[in-house]
Amino acid sequence: MKEPELPVNEQQRLAVLRALKVLDTPPEERFDRVTRMARRIFGVPIALVSLVDENRQWFKSCDGLIATETDRNISFCGHAILQQGTFVIQDAHKDPRFFDNPLVTGEPYVRFYAGHPLTTLTGESLGTLCIIDHEPREFGTEDTEMLADRAGIVERELTAIKLSLIDEITRISNRRGFLVLSHYSLEVCKRQSFPTSLVFFDLDKFKEINDTYGHAEGDRALKVFADQMRDSFRNSDIFARMGGDEFVALLTNIKMVNIRDLIQRFEKSLHERCVHLALPYTVRFSCGIIAYDPERHVNVEELMQEADKAMYANKASKR
Ligand code: GH3
Ligand code: MG
Repeated sequence: MKEPELPVNEQQRLAVLRALKVLDTPPEERFDRVTRMARRIFGVPIALVSLVDENRQWFKSCDGLIATETDRNISFCGHAILQQGTFVIQDAHKDPRFFDNPLVTGEPYVRFYAGHPLTTLTGESLGTLCIIDHEPREFGTEDTEMLADRAGIVERELTAIKLSLIDEITRISNRRGFLVLSHYSLEVCKRQSFPTSLVFFDLDKFKEINDTYGHAEGDRALKVFADQMRDSFRNSDIFARMGGDEFVALLTNIKMVNIRDLIQRFEKSLHERCVHLALPYTVRFSCGIIAYDPERHVNVEELMQEADKAMYANKASKR
């Protein structure tokens, strides 16, 4: 038996999969509809929407199978996500990679397998839409196209989940996305005792930009601010637009003394960006910085409330 290898973008792939927060959630009709249809179209006993997690494949939808997950190292889908097109095993008994696989020699007695990878717009294959039979089968070009079409439906549903975590104007996380991602991040920081702080930003006199140059220019100012966040903060940091002209950043593994410097540099770069874009204004902000204290902050919302207060104090001090 051959165990599946790891995709080259495995870490990014897992991050995207986890951000969707879809693992271990109850069945949903929008996915069950697709597996039901696939089973009927191809006349197979089993159809699955399988998501390949770090050590397992977990089934968001399983039609014809009682199991809800199996180990990744014996999975067919682990192989399928390594390639772009449909992965087809016409007869597992005759395939050196699978003939002695426990899913072939025992339940659910896989003999035929066809899985089409579920790939995001950014190129991560999260799992497959796959069909399984207990008998060997031929799988022609038309079959492949039909399976790929159904997989496209699942991909669009997954994309819809992903988009609901992203702010439409700035394309950085929205409030919901931030809550999902920061939850994981804070747990890690707590466990590893990483110094971590939350910065709450509110743009100064943002209404003036709207009133003077129009709402579209206001939107542009929000984008400029978000772009600077992307450039100034690290990949491991989590930042988002909370709504209106409010933004937050959870800066991990950085000491408080260094954060003041970082924010000063951010402010300078933001100013330079506005000059470079020849904007008739500079995007300015007030901010509040609070160090995460697991003893005091039960969750990220509490941390945010404190940082929001600190931001207001900062804004008031300028008036
Ligand atoms: P302050 O200096 O006290 O922060 O005042 P401000 O002018 O920045 O206004 P405030 O933070 O109180 O309110 C934010 C304003 O942002 C209110 C609203 O008109 C505007 N706004 C909210 N969402 C959007 C948006 O999506 N696009 C644009 N262009 N403006 C928005
Ligand atoms: Mg404001």
